[in-house]
Amino acid sequence: MNLLKDPFISTTQGRVSLKTLLTSEVDYQLQYYFDETQLAMLQLLSSLTTVLLKPTLEELKGYLNTGLTEEQYDAKLGRIDIQWFEAECFMRSAIPNGSKAADGPITKLVSGIECGSSPNALGLFSEVEQVDVVCPSCTHVLNYNLHMNIKGECFGPTGATGIRGGGAISTLISGKNIKTTILANTIAFDFFERNAQLDKDADQRFMWDSPPTGELYQAQKIGLNRGLFALAYHIDFPVEDKACVCDVCGHTSEQSVSTFLRIKYKGHYGSTKNGRDSHAGWWLHPYTPRTVKEDGTYAVCARDQNWQSWQEFSSYVVGKETDKASVKPAYIIHQYQQNLSTCAINCLVGGNIADQGSIVGRVYDLYSMPSSLNKNLGKIDQVIDAGLKQKDRLSQALNKIFGVGYDKNFVGGIKEQAMTSFTAMAQQTVQQILLDVDRKEASKLRKEAAEKLSAEAKSIFSEVQRKYQHDLPLFKGLVKGEYVLHKVNTN
Ligand SMILES: [Zn+2]
Repeated sequence: MNLLKDPFISTTQGRVSLKTLLTSEVDYQLQYYFDETQLAMLQLLSSLTTVLLKPTLEELKGYLNTGLTEEQYDAKLGRIDIQWFEAECFMRSAIPNGSKAADGPITKLVSGIECGSSPNALGLFSEVEQVDVVCPSCTHVLNYNLHMNIKGECFGPTGATGIRGGGAISTLISGKNIKTTILANTIAFDFFERNAQLDKDADQRFMWDSPPTGELYQAQKIGLNRGLFALAYHIDFPVEDKACVCDVCGHTSEQSVSTFLRIKYKGHYGSTKNGRDSHAGWWLHPYTPRTVKEDGTYAVCARDQNWQSWQEFSSYVVGKETDKASVKPAYIIHQYQQNLSTCAINCLVGGNIADQGSIVGRVYDLYSMPSSLNKNLGKIDQVIDAGLKQKDRLSQALNKIFGVGYDKNFVGGIKEQAMTSFTAMAQQTVQQILLDVDRKEASKLRKEAAEKLSAEAKSIFSEVQRKYQHDLPLFKGLVKGEYVLHKVNTN
């Protein structure tokens, strides 16, 4: 099986090849049970398309506007060394002779599922029995997910942090169909080189061809091909000649995989503390928004389980500057801004919410974006800003109950619950308002957002009032809060 030639991609119409997905007129839908795997598959397919097509920005514009033909695909295939995409070797550097590999159930590669080897890996939301056998085709996306998306800490002492940092948020462009989505997340090598500031002799070989050596993996020496599939483990997936129904994609298979073996690499990427302290530098991972601080660059991660992506969405697409740090959108958003296409698109924000070794939540939110990102990004900023202002106002209103003489933890709990309801409710409202981002003027959108979100904040506040109407001290505090909340909005 070769990942550039053979069918390994699970869709609702069976397994198809990358060539079929990119060149056919059929609008295939991916079929993976976990949205985390689905997200990893979009990243993997766009990265494969990048190394196959190796487009310039101009060529990529062409593919996005007129599509890719079978002949074009085959011509590109003839120009690269496809042996590195054979199933047995793709993203798998051999376990060194004589070394003892850690083994584990395949379950561990679906990081929403508790596997219990690390002391603080717990509290997840799927049952272990849900994934205990997968088809050989799905091992590729699980392996990719391990290297790019799963936090090393989820694996305890045998865990490693990959090139983009563990548990990072991903932002992807989502087009009108799967074909456009993959092309829109394909990386133009000329534009990437201008932005990534790599050394001229940066290594382009894949790590399963030539694994990295030394203590430190310097970012500027890692070429685009090498970095897109950068490894953090030697790994192997033993295949058994036993038929199965795959727990990840649902298709039947003659062979099955239920375990994997791994040994972590010894060096450090610039995404880790060791790497940052030794100035390894941040490799510009195309799907990762990042925070630049005085002491280095960090991947943007989700905060806690009450966090919702809308609160940070404008920093993911527009960026944000504060005194101490600046948040930069992922490269892929920046690339799309170069007038890549004029059709309406969405932005997909996905990832795990990790707390030490545990995964406590998942993000998979789709936002509408203006067709011209260059001109209209400010509209998004205004909608998000209106939401954050309401959130702040609700918080100030609820703060009034801290002065009534009750235990801080008790009133803190009341406030936290109300704030969580607001951010969750606002998630849907913001996504809905942004559906009109192309059709409506900025001022209208902002007004609509302010009105809807203010009504939501007020309704949550009244619920708290109703609940505590017989508790006089709290009720009095809430009356003061009500005044703050209802003050005429002056901005
Ligand atoms: Zn499968």
